[in-house]
Amino acid sequence: MKEQNYLDSLVGVFGHPVAENPGVVIQEAAFKDLGLDLWRFLTIDVEPKDLGHAIKGLKAFNMKGINCTLPHKIEVIKYLDDMAESAKHIGAVNTIVNEGGKLTGHNTDGQGFMIALEEAGVDPKGKNIIILGAGGAARAISVEMSLAGAKKITIVNRVEDKEFGESLIRLLEDELNMVTAYVDWTETFNVPEEADILVNATPLGLYPNINEKPNINYDTMRKELYVQDVIPNPAYTPFLAEADQRGCQWQSGMGMLVNQAALNIEMWTGLKPDKGVMIKAFESAIG
Ligand code: NDP
Repeated sequence: MKEQNYLDSLVGVFGHPVAENPGVVIQEAAFKDLGLDLWRFLTIDVEPKDLGHAIKGLKAFNMKGINCTLPHKIEVIKYLDDMAESAKHIGAVNTIVNEGGKLTGHNTDGQGFMIALEEAGVDPKGKNIIILGAGGAARAISVEMSLAGAKKITIVNRVEDKEFGESLIRLLEDELNMVTAYVDWTETFNVPEEADILVNATPLGLYPNINEKPNINYDTMRKELYVQDVIPNPAYTPFLAEADQRGCQWQSGMGMLVNQAALNIEMWTGLKPDKGVMIKAFESAIG
């Protein structure tokens, strides 16, 4: 007789609000493709006041891990036993791995971005990097770029957000010995001639604001510049269209999204998912 096993292996995401998070679609498509019939990805709305209880629940249910999205990425750290090096520098966690009750925090946003960069054949070592924005994505990407040996990182950031930007610069300089520059984004930004890689790490272009683009002088984009966006939906943003028109090599935020999700699956299951299956699932979910 065939062995009967109905015990689910649980992972998921904690967020608030979280109903529109497409993680479940991407992850469950990969589980199915890998033949992981008993793996389930749960989308769980956790209010900030309940985060501690939710972590206890995660342990009680022996969940294999969890993604954390807004507003829990920083607050969750106090419940963890250990953190990966880049997550420590970034000071935010989006993925937790549960090994027999020991919780380790990772930040796969920046790592996903870096794998996408590598897949495009671009090595940030010794390069001049320009990052638009100074929020969570910019922080994760600039820490990973520093760890990968970038030559200089320039943060271009709105003045209203100056403290955020300056704390990122301090982190890069003090903890990672990075050469940095900071640009107050008060007027149209000219991409410096020595720039090798330009990253949009702002939400400009994200659905439903699909016609928005960063305030930069697009004629300063040389064709040698490599351009990467964080926006996965829609994948082809007006920012990327400008880069495309000027002959630059470019990549959408889909690469970052799918690679961070693939990393989560690898950390939780030990198996490498088919990224094509995950992209297809995401595309059909967003329509
Ligand atoms: P944050 O809110 O933490 O940071 C956004 C940054 O962009 C801030 O510095 C913000 O400045 C700046 N910004 C916002 N609007 C403008 C504007 N009009 N002009 C100039 N700067 C602006 O968000 P995250 O860093 O967490 O996320 C940024 C984007 O990255 C989101 O759209 C998200 O969808 C995407 N993302 C994609 C991932 C992927 O896998 N592809 C993973 C993670 C994020 P201020 O603080 O002043 O508003």
